[in-house]
Amino acid sequence: MQYIILDLEWNTAYSNLLGHFVNEIIEFGAVKLNKNFEITEDFSSFVKPQIEKKLRNRVKNLTNISNADVADAEPFEVVCKDFTDWVGDLENTVLLSWGDMDIRVLIDNCKYFFADNPHIPFVKYYVDLQAYFMAESDLSKGQQISLANAASLINVNPEEFSLHRALDDSELASVCFKRVYKKDTFEKAIVTCDDEFYTRLLFKPYIVSDINDKLIDKTQFCCKCIECGEMADQLTDWKFSNSSFHANFICRDCNKRYRVNVQFKKNYSQLNIKKNVIVIKKEKENARS
Ligand SMILES: [Zn+2]
Repeated sequence: MQYIILDLEWNTAYSNLLGHFVNEIIEFGAVKLNKNFEITEDFSSFVKPQIEKKLRNRVKNLTNISNADVADAEPFEVVCKDFTDWVGDLENTVLLSWGDMDIRVLIDNCKYFFADNPHIPFVKYYVDLQAYFMAESDLSKGQQISLANAASLINVNPEEFSLHRALDDSELASVCFKRVYKKDTFEKAIVTCDDEFYTRLLFKPYIVSDINDKLIDKTQFCCKCIECGEMADQLTDWKFSNSSFHANFICRDCNKRYRVNVQFKKNYSQLNIKKNVIVIKKEKENARS
């Protein structure tokens, strides 16, 4: 089994064809590790931008990649083929990246350049190294740790690596990988890149804005009085704005008014519900009347 840690840099390019922005890959960097986690080979290549030729200033500053660097590089189709050849035996390779954003960007680039086919030609088994590192370090899932912070956490000085260049980032990630790797947990973290893998990554989470959508859990549309715990009476219709539904309630026993906000966000595997109840202050009411 070999491990490949891939890191990409990309430019934010506006596609006239699609009518929206695309993260266009401008650099591939990767290291190949043997089963002892020794780097046996590396891969580094710029990619000639085709969607927008000029790099954004933000990207140039972050990566130190210049327009001249990428102008004479091979296009995505060629670099992708070269990289696939370099990877070699897919059956015996686990590809890793720091967070799944690189994979999402790859899927978008494959779709764009390979006639809407999202299939990444050089990955069969994948691990999100950031998620794996966090799980092995007992870090909570809420905040995502940057590669530089992960390195600091294991007492590696990230300044020894030039950050935000693809090859250096992948080398630094390999140090983090080696440090947290455990055979049993790693094997469980390996994902097979089947149709479901692509469906999940292509899914774009969205806020449900239609109150009649069958996803909506109508039992959320109520308000318990914070004082007495009884159901409050609804004063206004549910209205949708700023990504959530709002309505006002009153508890006549306690003479308390409430504003309730409910948000329904559809992710690939679940519906996330956020609900909060705010007490409407008396002063506010007077100011309004
Ligand atoms: Zn009450």
